[in-house]
Amino acid sequence: MARVFAIANQKGGVGKTTTCVNLAASLVATRRRVLLIDLDPQGNATTGSGVDKLNLEHSVYDVLIGECSLVDAMQFSEHGGYQLLPANRDLTAAEVALLNLPAKEKRLREALAPVRENYDYILIDCPPSLSMLTVNALAASDGVIIPMQCEYYALEGLTDLVNSIQRIANALNPELRIEGLLRTMYDPRSSLTNEVSAQLKEHFADRLYDTVIPRNVRLAEAPSHGMPALEYDKQSKGAQAYLALAGELSRRQRRATRATA
Ligand code: ADP
Ligand code: MG
Repeated sequence: MARVFAIANQKGGVGKTTTCVNLAASLVATRRRVLLIDLDPQGNATTGSGVDKLNLEHSVYDVLIGECSLVDAMQFSEHGGYQLLPANRDLTAAEVALLNLPAKEKRLREALAPVRENYDYILIDCPPSLSMLTVNALAASDGVIIPMQCEYYALEGLTDLVNSIQRIANALNPELRIEGLLRTMYDPRSSLTNEVSAQLKEHFADRLYDTVIPRNVRLAEAPSHGMPALEYDKQSKGAQAYLALAGELSRRQRRATRATA
C-alpha cells in the first residue's frame, strides 16, 4: 500500500516541484513504484517530467471533477521512470468547479483509493497556496513534506503552515502528520543558514531531515530538458542529495513499520 506524501509550502520558489520530480526519480532508482501527481496549475512538475502540458488529452483536473479515471489521465515519464498525473492551466478552474461537487475536499483521496496498492510512494506537488487543491492534497495524504529555505522569514511562515495543516487534519484527516522538513538551496557557508538550521532542529527535532539539498545549478537546469537531475547529470551534487533523501525516507519508513509491528 502506497505511502502518500503531499509536498507543500504556501510559499512559492522554495523547491516543492524540484523535490517532487527528483525525489520521485530517486525512489524509482531504488526500485520503488512511484506515482507523481501534479496539483499545481503551473504544471511545472509535468514539464519537468518531460510531458508536454499543452497537449494533454486528460489531466488531473478531469480526474478531480470526475470526467475520467486516474488511470486514463496518467502518463509514464520516460526520463523519470515514474507514472505522472499531469496538470496544466485547466486546473485553475478546479477551485470553482469543486464548489458544486459532493465531498469536494476528498475528491483526490477518492480517486487515489483504487490505485494505492499499485505503488510504494505517491507524491503530490502542491500549489503555493492553501487553496482547495492543497486541501485535497492534505486530505489524501499520510504525511506532509515541507521543503524550505533557511532564511530569516522561514520560521514565521512555517508556524502558519504547521497550524493550517493541523486545522485541516483535525477537520478532514486526523491521521495526517508532518512527515519531514527539508532544507533546500542550502548554503552551509552562510551564518544565517546555520542559525535557522539550529532553530529548526530545536523545534522539529527528528522531523527535520538530516539530508540537505544544496544549491546546485544542475537541479535548476534539468527541468528545461524535461528530466530529473539524476538523468541529466547523475554525479551532480543535486542529484546525489535527492538520492540520499530517498534513502533517508526509506530508512525512516522501515523504522516506523518496525515500531508498529
Ligand atoms: P516551488 O515548486 O516551491 O515553487 P521550484 O522547485 O519550482 O519551487 O524551485 C524554484 C526555482 O528554484 C526553480 O527555478 C528551480 O529550478 C530552482 N531550484 C530549486 N531547488 C534548487 C536547488 N537546490 N538549487 C538550485 N536551484 C534550485
Ligand atoms: Mg512548484
